[in-house]
Amino acid sequence: MGEHIEQQFREYLQEMDSYREAISLIHWDLRTKIPKKGVEQRSKVVGLFAQKLHDMQTSDVMKHFIDSLKDKNTDPIIKKAVAECEEIYLRNKKIPKDEYKEFVTLQSKSEAIWQEAREKDDFSLFQPYLEKIVQFNQKFASYWGYEDHIYDALLHNYEPGVTTRLLDEVFSSLRQSLSEILKKINESKNKPDTSIVKSHFPKESQKAFTVDILKEIGYDFEAGRLDETIHPFEITLNRNDVRITTRYDENDFQMAVFGTIHEMGHALYEQHIDATLAGTPLATGTSMGIHESQSLFWENYIGRSLSFWKKYYPLFQSYAPKHFQSVPLEDFYRAINKVTPSLIRIEADEVTYPFHIMVRFELEKGLINGDIAVKDLPGLWNEKMEEYLGIPVPTDREGVLQDIHWAGGDFGYFPSYALGLLYGAQFYHHLGEEVNINNAIEEGNFQPIIQWLERHIYRYGKMKKPLEILQDVTKEGLNPDYFIAYLREKYSKIY
Ligand code: ZN
Ligand code: ZN
Repeated sequence: MGEHIEQQFREYLQEMDSYREAISLIHWDLRTKIPKKGVEQRSKVVGLFAQKLHDMQTSDVMKHFIDSLKDKNTDPIIKKAVAECEEIYLRNKKIPKDEYKEFVTLQSKSEAIWQEAREKDDFSLFQPYLEKIVQFNQKFASYWGYEDHIYDALLHNYEPGVTTRLLDEVFSSLRQSLSEILKKINESKNKPDTSIVKSHFPKESQKAFTVDILKEIGYDFEAGRLDETIHPFEITLNRNDVRITTRYDENDFQMAVFGTIHEMGHALYEQHIDATLAGTPLATGTSMGIHESQSLFWENYIGRSLSFWKKYYPLFQSYAPKHFQSVPLEDFYRAINKVTPSLIRIEADEVTYPFHIMVRFELEKGLINGDIAVKDLPGLWNEKMEEYLGIPVPTDREGVLQDIHWAGGDFGYFPSYALGLLYGAQFYHHLGEEVNINNAIEEGNFQPIIQWLERHIYRYGKMKKPLEILQDVTKEGLNPDYFIAYLREKYSKIY
């Protein structure tokens, strides 16, 4: 009997995963290829599939599988899959159906209003919607439960195990060190000249170069593809079909080159998840933060390193506009690692980026626990930006209205971006103890790096929680010192 029900559970998971794959393929198509007139009908189809998947996740059949297999199973994959399914089941069941429906409607309305508010630079349009969204998040958090801080319940959705208390600690030490580094950079008389990297660079040549780079690193084009979209993303259909997109700016090649390497980092993770997990909900990256650690690892730690450009600058020059022939490697390297406090999160460099996250984290935390009222957000935003980055915020469009996350109802998501930088530095440090990273890069031999990541991170999928992976690889918890040491070492040479 025992094996019989395990087999049935596996088949049920496989069916769910097939719906998930179909939904992902439709999403990919909606964002890349679909003709305008096809969108409406396709949206209905994807809605139907999503409903079907949701029904399966919360069905009595699922409940029966969970009850029968929980605590009784020794097969580690079944055990983890049951725990994962139970988590999804409970999180869905704890929210009353009509409330959830109301929230979904509010989400899409609020995204549209946010867009309008941003265009008109008028926060007051968005305010009543955001107030409702905050209320829903507070309610959901109380349904889901938490031990210490109400915001923990929301963090759990993106970074299970990471708490408000841990972030408070880590961010406060990070803030201090980053401010010191930034102060030195701002005061330096020896600043990189970034005008040398800005010149007209035809899209086709940028594309040819980035495709070469993806192949050099080891992105498997027989298990994925590269397309073009306004907002670049990575999407997993299954481990043999992991797709990425990019965006080309003919006046600044950095958008496409570093953006593509970033998405490739997400894709490498998904392409290397152990095959035995396929067809289960475990066959994906374990958390937002660990995922981001992998994309940022390739984008920053590898892609913006001097070793990388020692190896690939000649190839780059062969595709680039003529004037790069007279730009020395050293100057090029310094230009692509420029640090400047700026208003927009997604355009920020790796030194100032965490400040953008700290601003959002502190505001989110205050909104959710009721210390901050939505109407006070723009003012508080501007104060914090001035305090952390030393720059005045001229408009809400470039301030509190810049990100879609809150409009979409996502609270607790932002910290994952900063965690990605921190995890990445810890992994990089430990990789460096086993692999001569710079030698490998300068030889264009990325296999030892990919194999290390596969062995320690990739293959586990959701078999391990984020902090479990971190602990197993680094023998310690979250520690911002590695990130700080990396920045000090790198930027003391550039500035
Ligand atoms: Zn959980
Ligand atoms: Zn990313």
